[in-house]
Amino acid sequence: MLLKKTELHVHVLQCLYTEDLFELAKNHYTEINWNRFDFLNKYESIFGVKLNPIEIFERAVRTGSLEEIEEVYCYKFRGEGNFDEFNIKSYFAICITGYYYDKENPEVVLKCITERHKREGLTYVEYRNGFGGSSEEWKSWHARFARFFKEACTDTFTAKYIVRLGDYSLLKEIIEENPDLIDTIVGVDFSGKEIAPENLENFYKEVSIDRNNDPDKTVDVVVHIGENFYDKSLESAIRWCHQSALYGAKRLAHCIALGIDPLIAISRCNEAHVYESVKERIAQIKYDIKYMEELKTYNVKINQTELLAELEILYTKEPNEKIYRNYNQQRLLDITNRQNYVLDELKRIGTIIEVCPTSNLCISGVKLIEQHPFLKLYNSRVNLVICTDDPGVFDSSLSDEVDFIIEQFHISPKELCKRLGDPYKFRLKENKFVNSNKRK
Ligand SMILES: [Zn+2]
Repeated sequence: MLLKKTELHVHVLQCLYTEDLFELAKNHYTEINWNRFDFLNKYESIFGVKLNPIEIFERAVRTGSLEEIEEVYCYKFRGEGNFDEFNIKSYFAICITGYYYDKENPEVVLKCITERHKREGLTYVEYRNGFGGSSEEWKSWHARFARFFKEACTDTFTAKYIVRLGDYSLLKEIIEENPDLIDTIVGVDFSGKEIAPENLENFYKEVSIDRNNDPDKTVDVVVHIGENFYDKSLESAIRWCHQSALYGAKRLAHCIALGIDPLIAISRCNEAHVYESVKERIAQIKYDIKYMEELKTYNVKINQTELLAELEILYTKEPNEKIYRNYNQQRLLDITNRQNYVLDELKRIGTIIEVCPTSNLCISGVKLIEQHPFLKLYNSRVNLVICTDDPGVFDSSLSDEVDFIIEQFHISPKELCKRLGDPYKFRLKENKFVNSNKRK
């Protein structure tokens, strides 16, 4: 099944499964810095549990049971899930891999990952990865990783590399200094805390200019967006997805904001989406006026006079001041219509949404699987690809993710394949992609 062969969204270290972590740490667990990036303290503050990884590994080695390690590391669906809980669990792997990085031997870790993917029968994988460190360290580590993936390729397995930004000029330096990696480094990614697309406008412009000048050396852009957006209104979260596509991101990861039922979205936690900054509200009003005619064709109610009056008041406030706006039935209906508009827009532009079913379920905070944002995306015409995101942390391979969709949503494999097509066609630096970023 082609859907199970191409993986377009995985984070390198979160590809490690519990068994991989055990193998990597079983002879070194007493030497590992378990508080790397403040892991132990953050874990305790989020889960209220003081971990003792050395004792956990001692027991695992003695008994052969990996249950405790799995309990610490894996993130399972439980209805109230959120990004922070998931995120801190992924640090567990980072403590272990950090041991190998410090010893300048990251290839041990990477081999574990690519060998697993080869065994799973994947034929094409785009690995995304991020680093801290000085500019020189950042460049040399990314080049080293990219080179590993280049060398891991075989006749039946292709690995590509996506760099988390970061500084775009440094990425260009890597490509200039390592011409052998031009074909391997295919993209840049923005993940972690979501960035307002407007703040990336100059970056997107630069990429566009570079692509015109030298398409072979220019990367595509992918972005995590509409995934973790409690701090803003639903309208703004939807707008961020749209703007990312308009600016030229080729694939958008998650876009839960476009798929989730707005009533469920605002019920997920106290005061969800009722506050946002003045700055964000101003951006939303400007957007609504700019796209007023299009939004009206989707039955979104726009009153320009009221919006302009609101804008005048907002200009008297501090940009970071939080303003409160409640939801009523009309507003919720408008949000559904806005989702429909943006999904059609993404289809028109040619943008692809990366759906990560388990990740979206665990992090989105929906109570029931039937409320999963996937269904709305699936029932639209938008380009979709199924990915895993963090297969190790979620303990779910690409094959599992595809089966999850088939079983949970009662979609036949044939129907799913027909709707989605071969995900390979959505790979980065696939030359046929043209962002037709023009207004209708
Ligand atoms: Zn991701």
